[in-house]
Amino acid sequence: MICADIVKGTTKVFGIIGDPVAHSFSPVIQNTIARELGCPMVYVPFPVKRGEASEAIKGGFKLGIEGFNVTVPHKTDVMDALTDMDSLAKKIGAVNTLKRMENGYKGYNTDILGLEKSLILKGVSLFGKTVVVLGAGGAARCAVLLAADRQASEIYIVNRTLDKARELMTHVNKFYNTSVKAISYQELLNIPNPEIVIQTTSLGMENTKSSTPVEEVSFFKKVEVVLEIIYTPWKTKLLLDAERAGCISINGFDMLLYQGMASYEIWNDVKIDKELSAKLSKSLTEYYKNL
Ligand code: NAP
Repeated sequence: MICADIVKGTTKVFGIIGDPVAHSFSPVIQNTIARELGCPMVYVPFPVKRGEASEAIKGGFKLGIEGFNVTVPHKTDVMDALTDMDSLAKKIGAVNTLKRMENGYKGYNTDILGLEKSLILKGVSLFGKTVVVLGAGGAARCAVLLAADRQASEIYIVNRTLDKARELMTHVNKFYNTSVKAISYQELLNIPNPEIVIQTTSLGMENTKSSTPVEEVSFFKKVEVVLEIIYTPWKTKLLLDAERAGCISINGFDMLLYQGMASYEIWNDVKIDKELSAKLSKSLTEYYKNL
């Protein structure tokens, strides 16, 4: 068998760095988009240990790698090794997409674009709403900045480590005058009108499947929409609890898919049209939902 249609001398190489990275859906997503668009590229996983992202990126540049996605735990560490950063990524303070430039990589954040797209697809607007963000890590930064930028009326940041929620509140207050409060999980039931909940903690993933950051399910009675950033399992305990209480539920897969499409567009200077994005969404959702 000759595999000249897969990799040859002119094939561009892209990849994802993270730890762990073996579970990532991004290689399948990116290689599927590339095949659909007939782009001569391959996208591979690179396991890179915590604290070693900058070195890995420098090596990647020397090897001619065209671009990277960056996942946990490198989204902020890797910023030191970049030659430039997009203004939105600077505001968020985290990158998930690196594009090769003349002297190094430029960092972007497409997580925030994917998050917004996944809300829009369900007809959800943050304008004038009370938004509750669970977590205060990198993904929460995107959620809180998006809510502030889209003029949510109030934002509550709920985190196990309260100091981190306070830090994020201070960060957002530098850019927006939206009312932001940092609270603990014990205060969750005191929120008067929690309309939209965005769950950004890692609690509830396959290794902690029976856990949820919201143990008191009566909290969901007043909630309209719950967006869960996790997509493995497809429905976390938190999402199932929210559905049982009658909330509109959204899992993290569309966010993942649309941040991936946005990365692809940045790398290849193309626009993926609506028809193709809907087709990709349908086939990849079916594939992963039934895994
Ligand atoms: P991170 O910066 O490490 O933040 C993790 C957050 O989870 C922190 O707020 C942490 O609280 C909280 N947390 C962890 N374990 C907890 C527990 N047992 N109880 C309560 N809170 C807990 O990670 P990240 O970059 O924000 O990513 C978070 C999750 O989002 C990951 O699962 C990641 O895979 C997912 N994600 C999904 C997408 C997507 O496209 N769908 C995109 C980005 C990220 P403390 O501050 O108290 O430690």
